Amino acid sequence: MRFNEVLDCLHTYEAGKPIESVVAQYGIAAKDVIKLASNENPNGVAPAVKERVAQALDKMNLYPDDSMSALKNALSRHFDVAFGQLIIGSGSDQIIELAVHAKCQKGDCVLMAGITFAMYEIYSKAVQATIVRTKSAEHDLTEFLELYRAHSPAIIFLCTPNNPLGECLLAEDVRAFLREIDSQTLVIIDGAYQEYAAFKDKNRALSPKDLVAEFPNVLYLGTFSKIYGLGGMRVGYGIAHAPIIAALHKLRPPFNVTTLSLLAAEEALAQQDFVQDCLRQCACEMVRYERFCEEKGIAFIRSFANFITLKLESKDSTELAQWLLQKGLIVRNLASYHLNAIRITIGTESQNTRLLGLLEEFWSL
Ligand SMILES: *Cc1c(COP(=O)(O)O)cnc(C)c1O
Repeated sequence: MRFNEVLDCLHTYEAGKPIESVVAQYGIAAKDVIKLASNENPNGVAPAVKERVAQALDKMNLYPDDSMSALKNALSRHFDVAFGQLIIGSGSDQIIELAVHAKCQKGDCVLMAGITFAMYEIYSKAVQATIVRTKSAEHDLTEFLELYRAHSPAIIFLCTPNNPLGECLLAEDVRAFLREIDSQTLVIIDGAYQEYAAFKDKNRALSPKDLVAEFPNVLYLGTFSKIYGLGGMRVGYGIAHAPIIAALHKLRPPFNVTTLSLLAAEEALAQQDFVQDCLRQCACEMVRYERFCEEKGIAFIRSFANFITLKLESKDSTELAQWLLQKGLIVRNLASYHLNAIRITIGTESQNTRLLGLLEEFWSL
C-alpha cells in the first residue's frame, strides 16, 4: 500500500525498552529487571493517587468530562493562570503534535537544539516542515538567535532542562531571548523536567505565569509523566495566551484524556509533599553518579533533570547498554543520536547501587 510520502523520511520513535521484553528475551524474572531508561519516577505515585483512582473504577463506562474542568481548575490554582490559558493532552507529547499542526505548513521552518527531544522532529516532518538545528548539541541561545534571523522559523523549540542531555537554560537568558523574537513565531518551551531544575537552581526555574503574561507567543508544556509518577496515565498540559490555547483546542480529539488519568493527575498535583520528597531523593542520588564519574574519569553533563548522561570515550555505548541489558538493567543508549553516550534515569537508592556496581564491574573488564 502507498502511504503519505512524508512517512518515507520518518523514523519510528525509539521508546525505552519495556520490562516485559527483557523478561521475554533474557529470561530474567520481572522483579529483577530494573528500568532506568525513560525518566520515570522510581518512587511511583503518592498513596492518595492510587486511592483516588481505585474509588473511581466504576466510572469506566462513562466518557470523561471533556471540559476537564476539575484538573484545569487545579492547574489554574497551582500556576496562577486563567482556565482559558490551559489545555490538557494525552501526555504533553500530544500537545506538541497539536501545536505543530496548528502552526506549521509545508515548507515552514522549525528550529531546535542540535540534540533534543526526538518527537519535535517527527511531528514537524509529518507536516513537511524543514528542520533547522543548532550546531551545538546543547542549547546555545546565541546560535538560536542567529538561526532565527536567518530562517524565520514558524516554531522554535526550547527544551529546558533538555532531554536527553540534561543541561538547562537560565531563566534570565530565556527571557532575554524571547524579547528578540517576533510575536508571530511560536516558541514552545518544554518544561517536562522543570520541577527538578527549580529544586536544584532557582535561577533556572521558569514561571509559566510570567512567561505567558509577558510573551503572547510562548507555549509552555508540562507533564505528569516525570516527577508526578504518572507516565502510564498519559497526562500533560500546555499553558499559553488564550488565543494559542483556542487554536490548539480546534485540533484536540474529544475525550483525549481518560477519566482515571484526569483524577490521578488532579490528586498527584495536590500531593506536593510527595513531590518534594522525590525531588530531594533524586538530587541526593544524582550525586552518587557524579562522584562515580569523577572517580573513574568519565565525562558527564551536569544535569538539572532526573537523569544523567555519560559520555563514554573509552567504552562503547552500544556494548555497555547491551551488557547491562543481559543483567536486567535497561538504560538509554544514545547511539541513535550519533553520540557515544548513555542516559541513566536516577532510580531508587537500591536500583542505583545495583547499577553503580555493574558500571564499576564494566569499567574493570
Ligand atoms: C517525557 C517528555 C515529554 C512528555 O512526555 P508525556 O509523557 O507525553 O507527557 C515531553 N518532553 C520531553 C522533553 C520529555 O522528556
